[in-house]
Amino acid sequence: MFFMPSDVTTEQRQEIHRAIDSGGIWRGRYRVQRRNGRTFPAAAVLAPIRDAEGVITGMTGVSRDISERLDAEQAIRRHAKQQSLIAAFSRTVLTLYNLDDLQDQTVAVIRDGLDVEYCEIALPNPDGNGWMLKAGLGWEHGWVGQSIFDGEAPTHYQEVLASGEPILVANFRNEQRFKSLEIHQAHGIVSAAAVPISGAGGVHGVLGALSHDPDRFTLEDIDFLQSLANTLEAALERKQAEDKLTQLAQFDVVTGLPNRSLFRDRLSQALAQVQRNGGLLGVLFVDLDGFKAVNDTLGHTAGDTLLDQVGQRLQYSVRSGDTVSRLAGDEFAILLTNLAKTEDAGKVAEKILAECARAFHVGGNQTFVSASIGVALHPGDGNDTDQLLKNADIAMYRAKEQGRNNYQFYLPQMHERALERMRLEAELRGALSRDEFVLHYQPKVDLHNGEICGFEALLRWQHPERGLVPPVKFISILEDTGLIVPVGEWVIRTVCAQILSWQELGMKIHPVAVNLSSRQFQHKNIDIVIRRILDSTGVNPRLLEFEVTESLLMQDAEEAVRMLHNMKSFGVRLSVDDFGTGYSSLAYLKRFPLDVLKIDRAFIRDCITDPDDATIVQAIISLAQNLKLKVVAEGVETEAQLHFLRALGCDHMQGYFFSKPVEIDAVNRMLAEDVRLQSKFVDNGAGERTVLLVDDNEYDLLLWRDAFAPLDCRILTAVSAELALDILANNAIDIVISDQNMPTMSGTRFLSTVRQFYPDAIRIMLTGDESNETLPNAVNEAGVHRFLSKHWSPERLLKEVRETCRQLSHLDPAQRVTQGFA
Ligand code: C2E
Ligand code: MG
Ligand code: MG
Repeated sequence: MFFMPSDVTTEQRQEIHRAIDSGGIWRGRYRVQRRNGRTFPAAAVLAPIRDAEGVITGMTGVSRDISERLDAEQAIRRHAKQQSLIAAFSRTVLTLYNLDDLQDQTVAVIRDGLDVEYCEIALPNPDGNGWMLKAGLGWEHGWVGQSIFDGEAPTHYQEVLASGEPILVANFRNEQRFKSLEIHQAHGIVSAAAVPISGAGGVHGVLGALSHDPDRFTLEDIDFLQSLANTLEAALERKQAEDKLTQLAQFDVVTGLPNRSLFRDRLSQALAQVQRNGGLLGVLFVDLDGFKAVNDTLGHTAGDTLLDQVGQRLQYSVRSGDTVSRLAGDEFAILLTNLAKTEDAGKVAEKILAECARAFHVGGNQTFVSASIGVALHPGDGNDTDQLLKNADIAMYRAKEQGRNNYQFYLPQMHERALERMRLEAELRGALSRDEFVLHYQPKVDLHNGEICGFEALLRWQHPERGLVPPVKFISILEDTGLIVPVGEWVIRTVCAQILSWQELGMKIHPVAVNLSSRQFQHKNIDIVIRRILDSTGVNPRLLEFEVTESLLMQDAEEAVRMLHNMKSFGVRLSVDDFGTGYSSLAYLKRFPLDVLKIDRAFIRDCITDPDDATIVQAIISLAQNLKLKVVAEGVETEAQLHFLRALGCDHMQGYFFSKPVEIDAVNRMLAEDVRLQSKFVDNGAGERTVLLVDDNEYDLLLWRDAFAPLDCRILTAVSAELALDILANNAIDIVISDQNMPTMSGTRFLSTVRQFYPDAIRIMLTGDESNETLPNAVNEAGVHRFLSKHWSPERLLKEVRETCRQLSHLDPAQRVTQGFA
């Protein structure tokens, strides 16, 4: 009876018998059962046993346990397979650009390499709470792509994430460390292997395999998973770098908006579509006003933040299908598609202007910038990308010329203007060395005495062919090109030389104001330049005033504030030019060492006709008085404006009404002749004031008016006390002359009301009845300063009034004593 291993197949048995029967040896493998019932794989050699005659009587053999060798062979085969899978995977990922494909491919390789039931890529949920099954195989429908757990209890995923180390779970049922998840229970999962997906930024996910069998995974499996995770990570990093490059190539880093090249792509696509299907599209060229100043004074980081905020507001102003792009620096372009009509582009531009008008908050500072916008449309203003952008740019320049903070539609004639600007720029570059700049001077007048109290130096360009070019034509070009720095320095030097020349000629010397652009503060040394000029010329600093713009103050940049204080410490005066056009507040102005506010001429122009402007002027004057600043009204052109300003207590005026800016020869003549404001416009005593005549008798009123006409003052009349009070409410009245005998209100009552409300007004009573009762009442109640008799001649009346005013105007109202009849 041969012993035969347990699992030898019938064929194998026959084969062994054949071999032994024929006297040969059999070599082969089979499983052998131990006594305890377990089997093992064995390699066997069987040979016949022969008796003395050589007859085969049996079989002998040796079996060797080869289970270890087999395991090793199997491991090698699996390892080889896994290696080739990883190599293939490394090649495949190079061609995969889609993140989902990359992840799906990864889990497929896990399944092939480990021959396992479940594989997965798990990532922390975006909100940091729990995990999601990002990609997987073997899972029941509905799990992949979902959050698989959102609690806080420890999971093996969490452990991998926290430690950055792989983990083997032999059997979830015996695990104390982790919670068994519902998804695992639902799938009957018992064991798992998981490795971290980690890169430069740390661990950001888990790659894993899971099985129904306990003890399913080995350390080799972990190695395989880790190699895969590393390959996946390398692919992800490469992809991120590529995405970043694409982003950089198409988007602006500061604002995240499409850059010029992407904008041009989108514009040319939109153009092609409009040219195919019809329709209207618009290009808006948006350039910020005063951005350079913010950038240079608050710093580049602040500048970038501002650009980012502007980008957001622009995006907010357009529809989602439109493209907002940052072209360069402070230039943005907007593509408006599907416009219904031309005006719609204008509406968007208006919306942008309104958006920009709100304060920007940058690095703890509140700052303002406006925008100048040019609009070009297709069809009409260009048939290709370049032309449309160029024409929108030209229209934007026009908006700048129009005073900024506005928008302009492109017009063909603008093209010519843009060329002109380029020509001017080229010519300006040599103007200083060719000595083509000159200064004109405009006098400022003291409204209290009518005398010249200072000058403003205003730059002119004496062009060989163009003639005298005014600053509006070239200052902005000087500013844009930076030429304003040397030219501005030339202005200060020339003014100082002029002051010295007046001194040498022994003429009366007045302070001269010099305009400074914000751009001149960007070099951070304007104070030092001024100090140097003062030192080298020896000019008295009190004779120099510097006019700075409100926008410079608004930026409230530390550097500018420091330079202004420094300048002030030299002894020069500082004024705010064109005040009222910015957004300064009282609190703001207090921070600066100012001496003078110059009210912008835009408010003066309409202060007589526009109540809003009148209120603004009034408010600025009282603001200045509160801050102990002098006020200069700019651009005073008419007598009415002058009266209005004087009545409000404005200190100085500058404007064509007195003199235009003139050449130095004309200034010298003015000074030599002591030219001054006509005395009737000046606040210096009787004869230059407003008189109110009140009498119920219209005929008498006319008589009095004629009698007082030589007083050389404004004469207003009222036929009743009520009307007179109305006039008093609306006009600054210096002298009130009232009849005593009036039907609705007596002269005494009327003048005592005047005394109460307008105590400064000189009160004169006219009476036909010089009885003893009138006098005491009038003196006690109405504080009447003078009584005049209706019976006196016009000459005498005139003389008396003149005399009264002369005497009283030097006194405080309280000191004025009543005088009776002469
Ligand atoms: P600004 O400093 O406000 O100067 C006053 C401007 O108002 C001057 O214009 C002056 O001629 C004008 N003006 C004065 N009175 C009247 C008036 O009654 N009616 C009207 N309609 N205008 C009046 P100008 O000389 O053309 O100068 C314009 C601007 O150019 C100046 O405005 C100033 O901002 C700038 N500017 C002039 N010279 C310089 C300079 O040397 N440096 C700098 N940075 N800017 C300058
Ligand atoms: Mg000025
Ligand atoms: Mg001004």
